[in-house]
This record gives sequence, structure tokens and C-alpha cells, in this order.
Amino acid sequence: MSQEVTFESLNLSEPTLHALEAMGFTAPTPIQARTIPLVADGYDIIAKAPTGTGKTCAFGIPLIECLNPDMKDLQAIVLCPTRELCEQITTDLRALIRFNPAIRIASVYGGANMQRQVEALKKHPHIVVATPGRLLDHMSRGNIWLGNLYTAVLDEADEMLKMGFIKDVRRILNATPGDTQVVMFSATLSREVMDVAWEYQHDAIEVQVAAEGDNRPHINQYIIPSSGSQRMEDMLDIIREEDYRRVMVFANMKCTVKQLTERLQKRHGSVDCLHGDMPQSLRNKVMAKFRENKLEILVATDVAARGIDVEDVEAVFNYDIPDENEYYLHRIGRTGRAKRTGSAYTFMTDSDKFRLRDILKYTRSDATTMIFDENRHLIPAADAKKDEKEE
Ligand code: ADP
Ligand code: MG
Repeated sequence: MSQEVTFESLNLSEPTLHALEAMGFTAPTPIQARTIPLVADGYDIIAKAPTGTGKTCAFGIPLIECLNPDMKDLQAIVLCPTRELCEQITTDLRALIRFNPAIRIASVYGGANMQRQVEALKKHPHIVVATPGRLLDHMSRGNIWLGNLYTAVLDEADEMLKMGFIKDVRRILNATPGDTQVVMFSATLSREVMDVAWEYQHDAIEVQVAAEGDNRPHINQYIIPSSGSQRMEDMLDIIREEDYRRVMVFANMKCTVKQLTERLQKRHGSVDCLHGDMPQSLRNKVMAKFRENKLEILVATDVAARGIDVEDVEAVFNYDIPDENEYYLHRIGRTGRAKRTGSAYTFMTDSDKFRLRDILKYTRSDATTMIFDENRHLIPAADAKKDEKEE
């Protein structure tokens, strides 16, 4: 059914249709087809759809369509967990209002120049995209007022309702009018999310697009038994063999990211990193370089695992296995986006075996264990075993 839904059939305005055309989008994705009408009709929703299936526009389009540009009030906020994602969502929303110059969007996030954000807020934006800490900061200084808000969006909702953010998010939502529409999107949702959601939403509609058929990200997943510094050698061999020009490498700890980046830089020309200890200006520079195809390997902590959409990331490497199950999906979901195909490689030490099995089971992922043959080509471990038996 959703195959036949067109942007026109969703009753979108001319400027938005025009913008979508300019963005090269020919038809709504399934999550967009299902949620655009609901959000536009004012329903509270909890939406779950796989990575890379267009959730930003699924909330962005109805937000923009329902705005009243003639009013000066702040009408919608979008909360997200990282500064990079905040920038990206803002860019995506700006693309949608390209032919709608009356709409104003501002983005506020930590680590960036406060005064510039104050100036932007003084211009009465209709939509503010924000990380929670900085938004609260502006609220407490009286730079922003949520008293006339219509809609609050939580992107990466499960992350926003976890320990690290929940207190801030509660304070923000508590400052909005009681009848504010609360809209939540993520690729993963937990029981805890539903519990908190229940407090802030009224008769919320759950929308789920299953990771099946066309909606399943095309990510070939591999497990490589390897440990210690051998992992870097293996990774470089795979990158060389497959001629990858754009990969992301994830590690759990900042210190691992830093060390690995330094070691990689000595072996491969184009490597840089992203982690929470870096000044924001540098983080922005690295992200820009990666987006502009001027960086082949980006090594990052999970700060880059959620939501980041860089076209044509060919492969993701899990240098170590993620601390939390759902992070596996978010990390590998940086590739295989918008119907493209990607690959994900996870290094597994002996002691990771059971943890990784758990992660794969929990995330319903299918991964093939691969080993290197004598010519340093990757082959399925199962084939190697078969050969051994035949010999
Ligand atoms: P998600 O939030 O679900 O992970 P994004 O919103 O980041 O996904 O979108 C993933 C990619 O798909 C982006 O590059 C976006 O431009 C593209 N995209 C979104 N909607 C459409 C569409 N209707 N048609 C084609 N591409 C789309
Ligand atoms: Mg997203």
C-alpha cells in the first residue's frame, strides 16, 4: 500500500514539494508515508524505523507544514543527543524550507559560541534544534521561552530518555504547555522509553516499520576473530583489498580512539577522529572533512554512532564490540543508508564470543564469521573448516 503513497497525496504545500524535488526525493519512505499525516494531525507518536530510512524528514516535513510563519513564537523544538546530529538535522530542515523563506530555524548546542546562538534566538526562530544541556542554558538565561510551543520532537528518543539525558529532557518538557504534541523517533526503543513516554504523551500512537524486505538496511555483516594490535593490521588489509575510500571505525573509549588514530595515521594517509574531548570547532572541522570526502577513515566513539548521515560510507568497523546492545545497530547503521549497500566488520576476541552472540541475538542481526586465508583474503570460517575436513 505504502508503495503508492506520493508526496503529493500527503497534501504537502507547493514550496515543500518543490524542495523535496530539489533534494531528489521521488517518493516518501514507508516511515514518512505513515507518520507525516499523523504528526500533521497533531497526534503524539512513538515511531520506530530502521537506520537510514528517512526519519528526519518523517518529523521534519509535518513540522514545517504545520508552522505558522506569521507568528513570532517558537513553535517546535527538536531534541537530539549530539552536536553533530544537531547540525545535521538543522541542515536537513533548512533544505526542506529552501522555498519557504519565511520560516526561521536555529540550532543551539554545547561547545559552540553562545553569543552567536543568542543572536539567532533573538530573530524569533519558529523551530529550534538543540542538545538538551545548551537549550536549558538558554532557557535559564531567558533567551528562549517554550510557553507557546506546539510540538516537541525527540530524535533518537531512547537515547534521550536514558540516564545521561532524562533529567534535562524532563526539565525541558516540563517547561512546555501541557498539551504540547510530543513526537518520538528512533531505530531502537526500550521498555524504559515507553514508560517515560507515557508520562508526557497522550494516547500516543505507536508506528513501527519493521526491518524487513525493502526496509531492512542492506548491510553485510562480518565477524573477524582478532585481537590486540592485529586488529589494525586486519582492518588495513580489508580496506586495501576492498579499496574502501570512506569508512567509520568505532571504539568504546576516547583513549582507544586517540591511540588508534595516531597509529593509523602513520600507515594510511587520510585518517582523523571524533570524540568528546575535542574542542567543538575541531569536531565540526573533522565532520565537514568527512562529509566533503576529504577524509577516508573516521575513527570515533559512539558520539558518532547515532543519527549521523554521511553519504556513501562504505564500511563500518567495530574495533571493539559496543558496550550496549543497541549501539551495535546504530554503529553499523552509518552504512547501508537510503537503500544503499554497506559492510560492517566486527572484531571479536576470545572473551567477546558470548557477549557478541548476545548482541547479535538481541538486535536480530546476521553476521558471518570470516578468517584470512594464506593470501590474506577474507573467507568464511565455515568454508575453511570444510576444506580442513576434506584434506
Ligand atoms: P534515519 O534518521 O532514519 O536514520 P535520515 O533521516 O538520516 O535517516 O535519512 C537517511 C538518508 O535518506 C538521508 O541521506 C536522506 O537524505 C535520505 N532520504 C530521506 N528521505 C528520503 C526519500 N523520501 N527519498 C530518498 N531519500 C531519502
Ligand atoms: Mg535519524
